[in-house]
Amino acid sequence: MVFKSYMNQALDQARAAALRGEVPVGAVLVDPAGQVVAAAGNRTREQSDPTAHAEIAVIRAACAAAGSERLPGHDLYVTLEPCAMCAAAIAAARIRRLYYGAADPKSGGVAHGARVFTHPQAHHVPEIYDGIAAEEAEALLRRFFRDRRA
Ligand SMILES: [Zn+2]
Repeated sequence: MVFKSYMNQALDQARAAALRGEVPVGAVLVDPAGQVVAAAGNRTREQSDPTAHAEIAVIRAACAAAGSERLPGHDLYVTLEPCAMCAAAIAAARIRRLYYGAADPKSGGVAHGARVFTHPQAHHVPEIYDGIAAEEAEALLRRFFRDRRA
């Protein structure tokens, strides 16, 4: 099977989040047949919910649609390294592959900080591919925070 990246759709979600005044992070969840089953961006401000990260939103939507708390064989694309909360949710949902864009030394929980998937308590570890379209994801974040400071 030819590898098809869904990161462009995740970047679209990140751009839409920025337009809503949210930190520009977007995520897409793809089922084993290659169908996009959920796409979302951050909505923490809109929903007054610190857990309303893009990854949580797509996992919630896909689990609700599947009527299951687990999503075996599903792949998650997200524009920024997941935080510890999202990494734990990814493990709990049994996501097959995690593709992410920009590294997040400040709040990331995969390659930084808690490094959730290397922890002995991680019951499930996805295949992890980082740096996918990282430059675009980083540029979005940089622009967003620069504009907010201005
Ligand atoms: Zn998160």
